[in-house]
Amino acid sequence: MDQGDPRRLIPRTNDLLALPAVREARKRLNERVIRELVRHVQEQARRGELAPDQVEPALLSAVAARTATTLRPVLNATGVIVHTNLGRAPLSAGAVEALIAASGYVDVELDLADGSRSRRGAGARAALLAACPAAEDALIVNNGAAALVLATTALAAGREVVVSRGELVEIGAGFRLPDLIESTGATLHEVGMTNRTHLRDYASALGPDTGCVLKVHPSNFWVDGFTSAVPLHELSPLTAANGIPLVADLGSGLLAPDPHLPNEPDAATALGSGADVVIASGDKLLGGPQAGLLLGRKEIIARLARHPLARAVRADKLALAALEATVAGEAPPVIEALHADPGQLRRRTDRLAQALGVPVVPHDGRVGGGGAPGFALPGWALQLPEALARLLRTGNPAVLPRVHDGSCLIDLRCVSEADDERILAAVRRAVEAFEAADAGGAG
Ligand SMILES: *Cc1c(COP(=O)(O)O)cnc(C)c1O
Repeated sequence: MDQGDPRRLIPRTNDLLALPAVREARKRLNERVIRELVRHVQEQARRGELAPDQVEPALLSAVAARTATTLRPVLNATGVIVHTNLGRAPLSAGAVEALIAASGYVDVELDLADGSRSRRGAGARAALLAACPAAEDALIVNNGAAALVLATTALAAGREVVVSRGELVEIGAGFRLPDLIESTGATLHEVGMTNRTHLRDYASALGPDTGCVLKVHPSNFWVDGFTSAVPLHELSPLTAANGIPLVADLGSGLLAPDPHLPNEPDAATALGSGADVVIASGDKLLGGPQAGLLLGRKEIIARLARHPLARAVRADKLALAALEATVAGEAPPVIEALHADPGQLRRRTDRLAQALGVPVVPHDGRVGGGGAPGFALPGWALQLPEALARLLRTGNPAVLPRVHDGSCLIDLRCVSEADDERILAAVRRAVEAFEAADAGGAG
């Protein structure tokens, strides 16, 4: 490196580490992460991507932007309530409070009165049983898929799971229920046809090798036309007469019927129709943390709880705390968004549209997350130019709009009213950045 080489002017590591804002950042970030940020800006300067006098400001903004987690909160302006790519259900304030309370040491498996060990997650279990009295007992595991694996392993490993061909679904991202079930060592015994399955199909499949009969709610599609399926209340007398457990995978997690979603199955109705165990997710329509719920007959839940696999899929204390608070507390954001008053949505959307001078268009929200497929939730959206979508996603706060038909649509259904001003400010910033880039391009 000769004397004239600008790389000689790149600030040295120790000088950068000694900057007050960098020292201050040690309260949030550890030494290794801070040194990585320093090395990164120095390398950018060595490659000529940063002038030497830009190294310090670049480091300061990198340090300011770096949080301990790289997960960034997103305002969901898509109108899709249970958005898989956004972590499904946002938690209620009560569930967040419970999470924080449970984040330290907590009596998750301890009876404080006598100091003895207690049943793990007893509070969450009691809350579920109170909300769904049709269930004799409940077991909470890591997620819905884990609940299904546990049930099929404990009831049918080395034997057969009898299931309708019309219910062998892919639940997302190439993830197929048949693969999951066969990974447990159970064999699938498919009955009926894709569009039609009859009670006699089930009856002729049952035999000494049957471990359980599984009914799966095809939660992310629906078949139309010449179709028939056997409802639980017709199937349960057959399984009961043969002493075979009937497992119903509902997917979505409604504990009781919701009049807003007339075709969505719920745990109380499924148990009342004779299912021995129902399986549901905690973070779909239930609106809680990721969890898998198993609700049903006492002796079957006990059999599942005793299986060694139950330990491998148990729910963590944070999920147990948030689940109990969700089930026992105020309506979670998922339910607020589902039941959002159309008049109120219209007023909020109009107010932002007027402030921004943009049109309002009709826009249907969706349940999402593989729930209530094709079910439209009528509402409205702000209509913006498509080019704003990227600026909104990468802004602060990040806003995820829906891009459709050449427009960028902002639907307020899943945005808390308290965040309307943040949406307004985010759109204004995106418009400014868009116009600045446009002017730059033109000039
Ligand atoms: C979502 C879903 C699952 C998987 O539940 P997770 O909580 O995502 O693991 C299983 N079965 C059905 C029918 C589903 O809709």
